[in-house]
Amino acid sequence: MPHLVRDRLFFGNIGDAADVLQGGGGGGGGGEFTHVLSLLSSASISFFTEWRPTLSIPTEEICKVYAGGADESPKKSLAPGKLLCARERAGPGLKLVRMAVPLRDTEDENLLDYLEVCLDFIDEGRKEGSVLVHCFAGVSRSAAIVIGYLMRTEQKSLEDALESLKESCEFVCPNDGFLDQLKMFEEMGFKVDTASPIYKRFRLKIIGQSYQLGAKIDGSIFEADPGLSSEPNFCADAPKESEQKTAYRCKKCRRIVALEENVVSHVPGEGETSFEWHKRKSGNPFNRFQEKECSSFFVEPLKWMTSVKDGALEGKLSCIHCDARLGYFNWSGIQCSCGSWITPAFQIHKSKVDISTT
Ligand SMILES: [Zn+2]
Ligand SMILES: [Zn+2]
Repeated sequence: MPHLVRDRLFFGNIGDAADVLQGGGGGGGGGEFTHVLSLLSSASISFFTEWRPTLSIPTEEICKVYAGGADESPKKSLAPGKLLCARERAGPGLKLVRMAVPLRDTEDENLLDYLEVCLDFIDEGRKEGSVLVHCFAGVSRSAAIVIGYLMRTEQKSLEDALESLKESCEFVCPNDGFLDQLKMFEEMGFKVDTASPIYKRFRLKIIGQSYQLGAKIDGSIFEADPGLSSEPNFCADAPKESEQKTAYRCKKCRRIVALEENVVSHVPGEGETSFEWHKRKSGNPFNRFQEKECSSFFVEPLKWMTSVKDGALEGKLSCIHCDARLGYFNWSGIQCSCGSWITPAFQIHKSKVDISTT
């Protein structure tokens, strides 16, 4: 039986979903189920018949939505062309609306980029009828989405939303990777803010993981070169404000190498490794009281970074105009002078650039 979470909102496992999709799901909160949100590794309805070959669920496609193109800005971490969700009419008389989102239950799975489309669908379903949110076991994926929904609609912290959901079903247990991402969702103000440093760090981590697993470096990961004002998404909105943007210029030739918005900020000294690193570096215990200032800053991969485009895992970052050494990049991470690890890292030494307005 699906668990009632809120009026017209239920969650459950694949068996619950199969019942509903066959028309035997009964009422949800006083009305029939009208919407089903499937969170399974495959969005195809054939997932059900592979799970239980005797099932027969009629469906009719409404639409498929894919992740945006290379010109999307600010960028998401989903590779362009990747399926975001599939909508179809389903069940007897095709009366139900099913939305399927491909999601694996692993710690490194990207939940954030699918979260808002799921939450919007739940909102829509509750307005028109009743919604069932389900995954395979009804423990991790569906719970993570419902927790995100409670966070957004009730402005609850992750902890409070999780506790609240446990009152409906004590077995819920989103995997740790999902919990981390829901925490980011909370820190971003209950939205997926692709312009925030939190999201940018998340995105780089996802790209770094796929790259280290052997994915080809894809030109679409690079942000526009701030040194070329003809780039289409340079000052795309609010041109007056962009005139006042903080820019970092190569000290030697004055070319703009990064804008404030390209910086992926970090909390100085954050991370458990900082103490060990100072010890390892010199063996001098007084050293750990020094260098709390960051001697460099970290940015998103930018189109002028030809050494990154060439596909190396690490290397120098040089000014594309005068070839001056500006910093270093490493997909496995670099430790800032303050002790924080940035992974992956595109590091610019502060001593190599000047700060100005554009
Ligand atoms: Zn630092
Ligand atoms: Zn230069």
